[in-house]
Amino acid sequence: GRVLRRPSSPRRIGIMGGTFDPIHHGHLVAGSEVAHLFNLDEVIFVPAGHPWQKQRKGARVTPAEHRYLMTVIATAENPQFRVSRIEIDREGPTYTIDTLRQMRRQYGPDVELFFITGADALGAILSWHNADELFELAHFVGCNRPGHQLADPGLPEGKVSLVEIPALAISSTECRERVRKGEPIWYLVPDGIVRYINKTGLYLDDQEAG
Ligand code: ATP
Ligand code: MG
Repeated sequence: GRVLRRPSSPRRIGIMGGTFDPIHHGHLVAGSEVAHLFNLDEVIFVPAGHPWQKQRKGARVTPAEHRYLMTVIATAENPQFRVSRIEIDREGPTYTIDTLRQMRRQYGPDVELFFITGADALGAILSWHNADELFELAHFVGCNRPGHQLADPGLPEGKVSLVEIPALAISSTECRERVRKGEPIWYLVPDGIVRYINKTGLYLDDQEAG
């Protein structure tokens, strides 16, 4: 059931952006941790449609439908987690500002939006877009994974919260490489994601990195 709130307190909605190619336990811990720290009512995972920040060498980003389904599988059991098709159903490259404008229209002015992503990605988003409008639309939460702490991510003070996500030095890149090399990804990703990747043969034909 839904948590009861005083009518005066607006709904607090996290929007977790990512490529999710594939989604892994780092993403899920980040969503859970930020929901806890910021007292969020829900976290909406938003797989990117055509991420302009991602130009993987030798390999394309996996078709959106696979990434969407994996995100649904990985989040289905958590009543606080949802998945949105908002970015994968939009034509053209994925821009965070379009997503936040659309979320604003959808939920109206009376919710608080928290855009959650990696601190690395945040730096790029904020330098590329109209940062002033972004800050009007949402609060920004940057997640650092262990070992990827940026000395100075160059983020404006007071507008962005940086959060250290505990003990999961794991990335989608590493998961893809492990699949390609026949190494196990059990426990790095939810069991359903291991099975989905095995069933579909995803990542087996990826080019070697580097
Ligand atoms: P890739 O290796 O392909 O870049 P990724 O693991 O970084 O994938 P993304 O889909 O790009 O996954 O992740 C979305 C956001 O989540 C990114 O901005 C990333 O920094 C953050 N993130 C990824 N893994 C972790 C983790 N283990 N802990 C905290 N944040 C993470
Ligand atoms: Mg990344």
